Amino acid sequence: TRPLLEIKNLDVDYGLGEESVKAVRDVSLTIHRGEVVGLAGESGSGKSTLAYGVTRLLPPPGVVSNGSVVYHPPTGDPYDVLNLSNQELRKYRWAETSIVFQGAMNSLNPVHKVSVQLMDAIKAHDPSSTKAGRLARAKELLRLVGIAEDRLDAYPHQLSGGMRQRVMIGMALALEPQLVIMDEPTTALDVVMQRQILGQLVELRERLGFSVLFITHDLSLLVEFSDRIAIMYGGRIVEEAPSAAIYRDPKHPYSEGLLRSFPALRGARRELTGIPGSPPDLRGMPSGCSFHPRCPKAFEPCPTKLPILGKPDDHVGEPRTVACWLHPVTAG
Ligand code: ATP
Ligand code: SF4
Ligand code: MG
Repeated sequence: TRPLLEIKNLDVDYGLGEESVKAVRDVSLTIHRGEVVGLAGESGSGKSTLAYGVTRLLPPPGVVSNGSVVYHPPTGDPYDVLNLSNQELRKYRWAETSIVFQGAMNSLNPVHKVSVQLMDAIKAHDPSSTKAGRLARAKELLRLVGIAEDRLDAYPHQLSGGMRQRVMIGMALALEPQLVIMDEPTTALDVVMQRQILGQLVELRERLGFSVLFITHDLSLLVEFSDRIAIMYGGRIVEEAPSAAIYRDPKHPYSEGLLRSFPALRGARRELTGIPGSPPDLRGMPSGCSFHPRCPKAFEPCPTKLPILGKPDDHVGEPRTVACWLHPVTAG
């Protein structure tokens, strides 16, 4: 399949010079057309920072300090999103890539009806549309995300959390983007609701053909719904593989730990043990493999040498990478 978004060697810092901390380190990740990619990692691992970096929505003092984010439009030449002017960026967002923020369900305006907010979002990006056209589109979007038409006149507080989340997904789909990024849209919702919403998004992806980057702590949810999973620790991707491979045979001890932190929805039950210790502090990132102070399998090279992300030698030819001294790799 053809690539849609190619993130290469991305670094994101908060602050400048001496005072800065690196929240995303040398991240490369490709999202293909029609693919659902899951991004997992504990709190503070850099997932949101990566999502904001690639959409140029980093809040200050965040800056992308290295790398490229090459977008391949359906027609025409690929371009680096990091080089777009502000005007080009406005067109790119929503029409090519849209993002549903962490906690987005609470960002609906409480004093306006859902229909008005959907129509305003459409108008902002398509000023030439007619009111009747926008209303029809708002209805269509709600239907798409499984909300009955009679809810069009509801105010946000009259909807459940799950429904508000779906309205946000509807908004993100308003301009038929090629890529929808969802940043942990469901943290505040219960597990059943999380599954429903992600399941619905995946179903819509099959019908409409967009790609999804889905960000969450919950690896078992990703295993069920995504094609591929990338796992972040301390700002780096430490393992990337097809979902089934991560589930069946995680290579990185951190991936193993994450899998054991959430109840599996299907298949054999694993004992839930979680990961001892806490995520690293950006100001004092451990040397070598930054996971070494918490790793049950750490050995001689780990505290001093940084393992590179590469194809494990015992899985040559498979589309997976890992950064761990337990697995000798071939770079690239
Ligand atoms: P969560 O799962 O909690 O959403 P995350 O993986 O999305 O976590 P980020 O929000 O990307 O993590 O944060 C990555 C790191 O960057 C954290 O150590 C965080 O403290 C730091 N960070 C985030 N925003 C800022 C900021 N505005 N200024 C300084 N540091 C920041
Ligand atoms: Fe553990 Fe060493 Fe692998 Fe890091 S490199 S995950 S410390 S075994
Ligand atoms: Mg986040």
